[in-house]
Amino acid sequence: MRRHLDPATDPVLVIATHNSGKLREIEALVAPHGYETVSAGALGLPEPVEDGTTFIENARIKALAAARGSGKPALADDSGLAVDALHGAPGIFSARWAGPEKDFATAIKRVHDELDWRNAGQGASARFICALTLAWPDGHCEDFEGVALGTLTFPARGQRGFGYDPVFIPEGETRTYAEIEPAEKHEISHRAEAFRQLEAICLG
Ligand code: IMP
Repeated sequence: MRRHLDPATDPVLVIATHNSGKLREIEALVAPHGYETVSAGALGLPEPVEDGTTFIENARIKALAAARGSGKPALADDSGLAVDALHGAPGIFSARWAGPEKDFATAIKRVHDELDWRNAGQGASARFICALTLAWPDGHCEDFEGVALGTLTFPARGQRGFGYDPVFIPEGETRTYAEIEPAEKHEISHRAEAFRQLEAICLG
């Protein structure tokens, strides 16, 4: 049975992320729906170990940990960049390629170097994938997945966005995710696509 969320009965939605870039984007997507949002980081909830083998498994781990830890519904995002010539890497390891310092210049260099080694850098096809899980404290989960197809460009371009945004050009665009306005990214991104499905089923 699908479950709906209603701000009349659940006015607070926990955003189960410690990533400020994701938090900004998810809050902007949730804003029109009238929830008060609070991040798992602001509540002092610990970051669970993400030992799932898929984006959805990891989104569930984070959403359930935050819902159970807070006693409120929680929305988690697990996402990443999958590069075709790297057989889908970094994929669910996208955050880990940035190391403990969360240094995305290092992560981007690794993508570049691994592609270069295969003579496939500029224009390599890639996709961003976003799994969203909405979880309730009783363990019920609703999962959604969105994809954005595109190509990679090196060197990095643009100051907006976060993570791998400066090297990703979405299909039909000439600018990277880091060069387009946040409002435009919210129209076309993998996160926006997953959120549209969540809206239709759980917030509609
Ligand atoms: P995780 O979902 O917390 O494991 O982290 C996913 C990682 O994928 C993030 O730290 C980012 O590096 C990357 N990522 C996910 N979504 C985006 C995006 O919209 N733009 C750029 N990088 C992203």
